[in-house]
Amino acid sequence: MKIIRTIAEMQAWSDEKRRSGAVIAVIPTMGFLHDGHLSLIDTARKSGADAVVVTIFVNPTQFGPNEDFDKYPRDFERDAALCEGKKVDAVFAPSAEEMYPKDSSTWVVEEKLSRGLCAKTRPTHFRGVTTVVAKLFLATLPHLAVFGQKDGQQARIIKRMVRDLNFPIRIVISPIVREADGLARSSRNKYLSEEEHRNALSLSRGLGRLKAEIEAGETDLQRLLGGLRAEIEGANGVVDYVEAVDAETLEPISRIGGKMMFPVAAYFGKTRLIDNILVEK
Ligand code: AMP
Repeated sequence: MKIIRTIAEMQAWSDEKRRSGAVIAVIPTMGFLHDGHLSLIDTARKSGADAVVVTIFVNPTQFGPNEDFDKYPRDFERDAALCEGKKVDAVFAPSAEEMYPKDSSTWVVEEKLSRGLCAKTRPTHFRGVTTVVAKLFLATLPHLAVFGQKDGQQARIIKRMVRDLNFPIRIVISPIVREADGLARSSRNKYLSEEEHRNALSLSRGLGRLKAEIEAGETDLQRLLGGLRAEIEGANGVVDYVEAVDAETLEPISRIGGKMMFPVAAYFGKTRLIDNILVEK
């Protein structure tokens, strides 16, 4: 497995793979890898990848001034070993200086899907995400890229960016991987105390119940969202949002039907967690 630190070397590696006819997949991550990330590698292989590149980069531009950039967990040696174990072909782990020239002044901004949900409390987050993902695409030159449904809004925004800017890259969205108790895997779960972890199970429990209620015929959206909110608040969670949106456009929906996504964000102690569930009716 090759560990690559510079954009020039990454592009040369991908160029050579492309010349040999290999299908390249990229999996962008911020490292501190867990089973959720590793499942994206399997999805990449199932989607036809011959060569898998995992990028590990804690991207400063997607963190707000009061967010956890400095304390975001990092463990490159462990990440590299996990990638090696999954037979990843290359890990691209550039420095911030390599990715962002000192006087860098260009952004990639998606202006519609990036406005609601998480953007309400993290107004500059998605501008950082779209910019870094565009840059990672241009460094790794992939045929396909895999993103997790865990970050449902992010995945839709990347799909829109790729369509709007003609990136010749297929975007694959991979299902949410959960811990045995239901909590969606996240590098940020490390911040949770035992009690906060227990309380955070209200997210997956509430979403699971909401889906079951819809499948059982419940059609009152306000009641469904109210029930989800009550479940989280009853577990000492501070709700940032609970919403019902179209699974592709992320437009709020006013009635049950079609492909829906129910995204939530809530704080447990100081830790902000997100989760969502897809429901089709
Ligand atoms: P991150 O390192 O948190 O930026 O995540 C990198 C990629 O892994 C993103 O596409 C995430 O959506 C995906 N991911 C993170 N956690 C999970 C999970 N529990 N299940 C599936 N994908 C995940």
